[in-house]
Amino acid sequence: EQEGGGAEEYLFKIVLIGDSAVGKSNLLSRFARNEFDNNSKATIGVEFQTQVVDIDGKQIKAQIWDTAGQERFRAVTSAYYRGAVGVLIVYDITRRTSFDSVKRWLDELSTHCDTTVARMLVGNKRDLENIREVSVEEGKSLAEEESLFFMETSALDSTNVQAAFEVVIREIYNDVS
Ligand code: GDP
Ligand code: MG
Repeated sequence: EQEGGGAEEYLFKIVLIGDSAVGKSNLLSRFARNEFDNNSKATIGVEFQTQVVDIDGKQIKAQIWDTAGQERFRAVTSAYYRGAVGVLIVYDITRRTSFDSVKRWLDELSTHCDTTVARMLVGNKRDLENIREVSVEEGKSLAEEESLFFMETSALDSTNVQAAFEVVIREIYNDVS
C-alpha cells in the first residue's frame, strides 16, 4: 500500500463470454457508452472498451473485452482470456440453450484462467419476462453451485448493467487492495 502518492492506478481486464446473441456487446455498450443497438453486429476491430469506475474513492480502469463474434465458432482464443481478472458469463433468459451452455463456458474459462478470477453469472434480457425460459431461481442455484455472483440484467432498459460490472470490479479490487 502506497501512502500519500496521489491517485493509485488500477487496471483490470474483464472479459465477456457466453453464447452468440445473448447480449454481450450490448451490455458493454450500455455500460461504457450508455448505448443500445437493436441490430448490433459483431464489432469488427474493437477488442475492448475502457471505463473508469470509482470504488471507495479509487479510480479504477476497467478494460472490458468483447468477442468479435468468434464464439459462434467456439474459437475464443487464449489471448482473449490472457491476464483477465474478472469475467461475466452471459446467457439469455429467453433462450434455454444459452443457459445450458454456461457449464461449457465455465469449463473453457477454467482451462485459461486460474480460480481466483472474479466470476459473475449474468441472465440478460430480463425485460422480456413474457417469453422467459429460465427462471430466476435456476440462475441463482447454478450460481450457488458454481460459486458465482449472479444478476439478471437488461441491456435494453439498463436494469442492473452498471451493478453487474461494479460487483465484479469491486470483488477484484478487494482481492488486490
Ligand atoms: P452478443 O452476440 O452476445 O454480443 O449479443 P448482442 O449484444 O449483439 O445482442 C444480440 C441481440 O439481442 C441484438 O438484437 C440485441 O439488440 C438484443 N439484445 C441484447 N440485449 C438485450 C436486452 O437486454 N433485451 C432485449 N430485449 N434485447 C437485447
Ligand atoms: Mg457481440
